[in-house]
Amino acid sequence: MSRAVPLLDALADVGADRVRGGYSRHGFDRADHTLREWFTGEAEARGLDVDVDRNGNLWAWWGTPGPGAVVTGSHLDSVPGGGAFDGPLGVVSALAAVDVLRARGFVPAKPVALVVFAEEEGGRFGVPCLGSRLLVGTLDAEHARALRDPDGVTLAEAVRATGLDPATLGRDDESLARVGCFVELHVEQGRGLVDLGAPVGVAESILAHGRWRLTLHGEGNHAGATALADRADPMLPAASLVLAARRAAASVPGARATVGRLVPTPGGTNVIPSTVDAWLDARASDGPGTRRVVEDVVAAAREAAEAEGCTLSVREESYGGTVAFDAGLREVVSGALGGVPALPTGAGHDAGVLAARVPTAMLFVRNPTGVSHAPAEHAEADDCEAGVTALARVLAHLAGPSC
Ligand SMILES: [Zn+2]
Repeated sequence: MSRAVPLLDALADVGADRVRGGYSRHGFDRADHTLREWFTGEAEARGLDVDVDRNGNLWAWWGTPGPGAVVTGSHLDSVPGGGAFDGPLGVVSALAAVDVLRARGFVPAKPVALVVFAEEEGGRFGVPCLGSRLLVGTLDAEHARALRDPDGVTLAEAVRATGLDPATLGRDDESLARVGCFVELHVEQGRGLVDLGAPVGVAESILAHGRWRLTLHGEGNHAGATALADRADPMLPAASLVLAARRAAASVPGARATVGRLVPTPGGTNVIPSTVDAWLDARASDGPGTRRVVEDVVAAAREAAEAEGCTLSVREESYGGTVAFDAGLREVVSGALGGVPALPTGAGHDAGVLAARVPTAMLFVRNPTGVSHAPAEHAEADDCEAGVTALARVLAHLAGPSC
């Protein structure tokens, strides 16, 4: 039995999605609030001091908050219908690692902090790594405040409802200056460790990736009364766009492109939509490759839109270049674990955002299904325990007197 498992079990009912399966926990919603309260309670029960930064990220301190802190943690929100491990595993493992170190009588020579980043998945406001991007300043606060969820609620309104002043959102050098290094433990979102036969690995790099919102504008009309020749149906170019995404990604080695969300307005069975919004998620090993995929998809969508008498507008919602994690810290982490495999990942993380400003590393825990962002995501109890043990060893090394 892993020390992480009972902590995960305590969250089993929070934000369970009865329609999609799995969990739907989104930034600043009710489930998120429950999870944040739970984390605060668990941290305080361990004698840690919890504070909330200007962007809604939670920090639990073992020792006096200050520069040079060794920071670990992850996120508690999920994609719509997501798995139980993506995010929470890093948070519960951080709590469990503190328990391991305490039981051993370890006293950190540097401050240690456990962090929970806000809205990592972008499941509510569309921008992934919202809390960490605001913290480091790669997301403009003005732009962020105006982001809307599918019900039209702005981020400013959502954070105000939780007691946070939206005016304080934005780059927060004071909070960031406390971070000496950041180590995020995460369930692997692929089968790399399964193939290597290893329970734990370290991250090497993250693909360049981003999200683009492509809106096709046509003419809303009656599905029965409108002759085919008289239509400007934006669903047709939307279909071309989806197929173009697969074609474009296949033309760039290692690239991926996905249309995971397609929203026709008004969305009636007997209605030709007036607009269709399609969200394109594109990733490749480098920025130019990612850009090429997006340009190809946009060109194909524009051509198909014109052929149907529709128009296209495009908005970049987020973008992050390739992340190569700090090689020195990776060596230290790997060395503290007696050598574990290093592997690249196609998934984005708060650690990838922080890597631009502070030395950052990631630990991955084996996922036997290789599935993530879906209910089948999994990690065996023994592997969760290996993750806790590894994280405790890394924290002891980084926050110990000799590092
Ligand atoms: Zn995650």
